[in-house]
Amino acid sequence: MDFTKIINDTITEPWGARKRDPHVFWPSEASMVVGDHIIGKCHRAAFYSCNGISATNPIDPKSIRKMEAGRAIEQNEHKFAEAAGILVGKNIKARKTYPDGLIISAEIDAVYAHEEQEFIIEIKSIGGYYARKSVFGGARTSGAPKEDHLLQTMLYLDIFPKYGEAIIRYIDRTDCDTMEYVISLFDLEGVTMLAVDGQPHPDFSLQRIMARYKSLDAYISSDTLPPRDYCIKYSAEQKRAINRTLKTKTTRVRDWQCSYCRFQSRCLKDG
Ligand code: SF4
Repeated sequence: MDFTKIINDTITEPWGARKRDPHVFWPSEASMVVGDHIIGKCHRAAFYSCNGISATNPIDPKSIRKMEAGRAIEQNEHKFAEAAGILVGKNIKARKTYPDGLIISAEIDAVYAHEEQEFIIEIKSIGGYYARKSVFGGARTSGAPKEDHLLQTMLYLDIFPKYGEAIIRYIDRTDCDTMEYVISLFDLEGVTMLAVDGQPHPDFSLQRIMARYKSLDAYISSDTLPPRDYCIKYSAEQKRAINRTLKTKTTRVRDWQCSYCRFQSRCLKDG
């Protein structure tokens, strides 16, 4: 008897089609052009999801367990914050309609209060050496929030304007170590920019994020499949370039965004 296999076979069943309004977007679908590359969600993956297309690639059991561990950590943190007397609310929903008709629907993890100020709280669990090093910092490097999390949190600050600051709270699933970053927005010459722990990040602007949502909305409205934002299969030349950058022989065959994408087979078929 292999109980793990029985459980794994059940939890990894591919997700069926999910009904949603294709013109109402989620903060987890945020992306932005920086220089010559994209950060955040792939337009094509968002296009499939917004159109309610069935996922073709099930999430593997390990990733499902990590996601569930993350949810359990979030619930625990709510309990701890309540015990500390700082929890004002949790899982608060709102949606915003932007002047050009775009609608973004959001849910924040929690709101904490401290000395008359209330903060949006985003709880993220991470694990593994590389995630730990990038978020918490290493012996000779400082840490930083993940780019996807910054995009998401910028939108929360815009959709819930009564809170001037948000805190991303990271918790390492391995040793339960914690780290916090304070996220805020500021205006400079009509552009809404990001600051992390008070330090401006001029590459990140709300206007850049909204421009990408607008282009996603146009693909959906015209029923046009967007091009791939990430590389689903490296060419020999791309592998050589990665090897040169990483100074090692890569075993990677595609961008990590494609490795985790639930529409990988569909995307390959669509060309
Ligand atoms: S496989 Fe990659 S390129 Fe294709 S939809 Fe997914 S993330 Fe985008």
